[in-house]
Amino acid sequence: PCFIAPQSRAGFSRWGGESVLNGHNGERMRSLVFMGPTYYQRLTHMAEDKVKLRNTGPVHPLTRQPVVDRKRFGGVKFGEMERDCLLAHGATANLHERLFTLSDVSQLHICQVCERVANVVLRPVEGGRKVHGPYCGFCKSAENILRIKVPYGAKLLYQELFSMGICLKFETEAS
Ligand SMILES: [Zn+2]
Repeated sequence: PCFIAPQSRAGFSRWGGESVLNGHNGERMRSLVFMGPTYYQRLTHMAEDKVKLRNTGPVHPLTRQPVVDRKRFGGVKFGEMERDCLLAHGATANLHERLFTLSDVSQLHICQVCERVANVVLRPVEGGRKVHGPYCGFCKSAENILRIKVPYGAKLLYQELFSMGICLKFETEAS
């Protein structure tokens, strides 16, 4: 019941469909199996060239956020759509880690009296000593100053606005 196709001069089936034997039991297979030269092109995209990973690495000097390029050992992009996914799942701790801890975590000192940013300065104190620490230039005081964590991008925005004569106030809650 097996169809045998006309053979070529080399003894192969003219159309490539060969009658073959089953390797398990030696019986002839009922269907023809195609055999013959086939051509394919190797894909140039290799996993080794594509793989991208980092824990910490180079950051952009201005924003202090991870650089982009794989060649420069940059970070993996976490975009708006990824952010929306984590928001939709209520995974706020994970979101906080992605966008803050693993990115441009920074700190800022806030004067709780005037709610403005206190700078870390080297200032003279009684006894002729000099102390390095947060100091509110508006209140002329080093009292009631709170240290908060902010993304460096937020700090940069504050500094850019400040340089244009716009001063931001920060409402803080002592914990
Ligand atoms: Zn103040």
